[in-house]
Amino acid sequence: MDHSPRNSTVSATSTRMVDVLVPVALDQTYSYRVPRGMELKAGDLVGVPLGPREVLAVVWAENANPDPRLHNRLKDVSEKLDAPPLKSELRALVDWVANYTLGPRGMVLRMCLRMGENLGPERMRAGVRLVGDPPRRLTPARRRVIEVLSDRLLHGKSDVVKEAGVSAGVIDGLVDEGTLTVEPLPPPPPPPAPDPAYGQPEFSHLQRAAVDAMRALAANGTFHVALLDGVTGSGKTEVYFEAVAETIRRGKQSLILMPEIALTGQFLDRFAQRFGVRPLEWHSELTPRTRARNWAAISEGSAPVVVGARSALFLPYANLGLIIVDEEHDQAYKQDDGVHYHARDMAVVRAHIAKIPIVLASATPSVESEVNARKGRYQRIALPSRFGGQHMPHIEAIDLRREQPARGRFISPRLAGEIRTAIERREQALLFLNRRGYAPLTLCRACGHRFACTICDAWLVDHRFRQRLVCHHCGFSMPRPNVCPHCAAEESLVAVGPGVERLQEEAATLFPEARAMVLSSDLITSIETMRSELNEIAEGRVDIIIGTQLVAKGHNFPRLNLVGVVDADLGLSNGDPRAAERTWQLLNQVIGRAGREQGRGIGYLQTHQPEHPVMKALIACDREAFYNSEIELRERTLYPPFGRLAGLIISAGDRPSAEGFARRLVAMAPRDERVKVLGPAEAPLAVIKGRYRFRILVKSARGFDLSDYLRNWLAVAPKPKGNLKLETDVDPQSF
Ligand code: ADP
Ligand code: ZN
Repeated sequence: MDHSPRNSTVSATSTRMVDVLVPVALDQTYSYRVPRGMELKAGDLVGVPLGPREVLAVVWAENANPDPRLHNRLKDVSEKLDAPPLKSELRALVDWVANYTLGPRGMVLRMCLRMGENLGPERMRAGVRLVGDPPRRLTPARRRVIEVLSDRLLHGKSDVVKEAGVSAGVIDGLVDEGTLTVEPLPPPPPPPAPDPAYGQPEFSHLQRAAVDAMRALAANGTFHVALLDGVTGSGKTEVYFEAVAETIRRGKQSLILMPEIALTGQFLDRFAQRFGVRPLEWHSELTPRTRARNWAAISEGSAPVVVGARSALFLPYANLGLIIVDEEHDQAYKQDDGVHYHARDMAVVRAHIAKIPIVLASATPSVESEVNARKGRYQRIALPSRFGGQHMPHIEAIDLRREQPARGRFISPRLAGEIRTAIERREQALLFLNRRGYAPLTLCRACGHRFACTICDAWLVDHRFRQRLVCHHCGFSMPRPNVCPHCAAEESLVAVGPGVERLQEEAATLFPEARAMVLSSDLITSIETMRSELNEIAEGRVDIIIGTQLVAKGHNFPRLNLVGVVDADLGLSNGDPRAAERTWQLLNQVIGRAGREQGRGIGYLQTHQPEHPVMKALIACDREAFYNSEIELRERTLYPPFGRLAGLIISAGDRPSAEGFARRLVAMAPRDERVKVLGPAEAPLAVIKGRYRFRILVKSARGFDLSDYLRNWLAVAPKPKGNLKLETDVDPQSF
């Protein structure tokens, strides 16, 4: 075969090769031949044959010195796609993130290419036009098509299918007969651009310095990290909008990352008040069509501002000029499946690679960012008081050891009294409990049986609205029985502890005339219902808001002055080294919802340990006290950011395989006195979805290349086979 003239022509004319990266869970690149007449550069999007399939890939390197022996065994690149190439800065980010997280490079690349069903909107949007005479055989369906197209203008093919009520085949037939032509539809006009001068507010003298700093950093346009550190209600959003405005003026794109895009209805409106139009959104709930259109606008540069969840960080911006990470401390920035990465940290990496400024905004910065600001690595831009002279909420503890709620109740008499007063003044009250459902545990009073998930190491949570017991880890659920399945006793099952649904029941008995609303992620079916419920609260049509952490973030409820934290100790005692930091952040955020317009906010912490440093710092409004004690503790124990951590999670369908493999891994760990390998131990949730999980924790000094250490270790260690799975989590956020 090699001697056939045809083959020799091919090899004589296509001696060039490229290495491409395929967006699947593989780390290495593959070489392909470049067919004659095809011009390819690094970053180009191409189609290549991979096994039996044709897949999308990105040219990673132009291979200058192909090995001629290899050459004959390679396949050709099948096509070069009509899309902007992936810029070198994004390719560098993919390489960097893969190297740091130990996630396969192809998986990281995949995060850059989530562009909807098709490549660009143009591919989906074929147009047809009437050009010739009607065909001899004129069926009723064909007649309808010709009627729709009688103006001889270009129509979208799919629109004609709908309007004429025919199948696409009817149109194709008319094209074959020369009656119609197919032409690509012009791309849709770009959305109206945000106007940096549209609604610029007057800034208070306390905000001025921060505003100037924002404008300067955006105007400078070089790599620079600023920590916008401002108490809740200080106007951080208005202030960082000035950096966005400056970036728009410079003709560059801004990315605003948000931890929870489902909650940004109010944000989009505020953006529109400031800039005249809403920004482009990027999150998992976009329809494939919108996703494709937005992806194209982002990669072609026609979207000046993008607001998105963490996945928006990996998009191929045409000319990114600024990144804002709002609520930078939020845990939702950590992705814990597939590639384990922290979007805030990777955003700093992207800004560094792209040489652009980045702003991290928070009222309760992460300990990492606080330390970076104290050491001068980040510029601190502070807004220490609320806009308009409003006072910060006053915070008091309710000591549950002395002021107990009645039996089977969870709201203490004092808190109930305060809520009643608030309602009488026609103000709102928020009851905060970070627990979904009715009760976290159901047990039988007769035999002590506890309802647990059959495949996870977890109790089933009673959800009364749905009338089911539900596992929060795998989603398993069963109807709530009337009879104990263990001892057959009747009427013996009791709910133990509160969830938000149970609080609603208690609120209904305590305040029968009040209008209460529960906000919890499992009760919300779509972003739209979420946004409309938040609107009802903001407009004052609700007296008591009962919610999980969903209500803690970012909202502005003008008539809310009272926040009651039902169980302030909830997150403190789970053994997680970040428990104190999390609790401090969450409680500050949720109490920060109070008194934003009227300045009479008050927060009550129901707690069993009012002397805990977190409670004391909250009550004294002493931010420095909290960070000082937490930083001192981390420094002493060498926890991040004073030491480094990585986790290896080993899971398998049976316990001995998981544990055995974990032990063999530990035995292979390279010796290095700068590293401590701890474990294996059962992971905190030892069984999830029937998989047994063990965890190895690796601890090192700050500045040590933990990723490299892990890579060397895993290179010599046995590979997980069959049912075994090994995940790497560099900088784990929870334990
Ligand atoms: P933060 O994000 O710091 O909690 P926001 O940006 O939400 O604070 O601001 C709190 C409130 O104050 C918002 O209603 C905002 O519109 C208003 N605000 C802040 N700065 C100004 C300003 N300069 N002019 C008018 N309103 C402002
Ligand atoms: Zn389960």
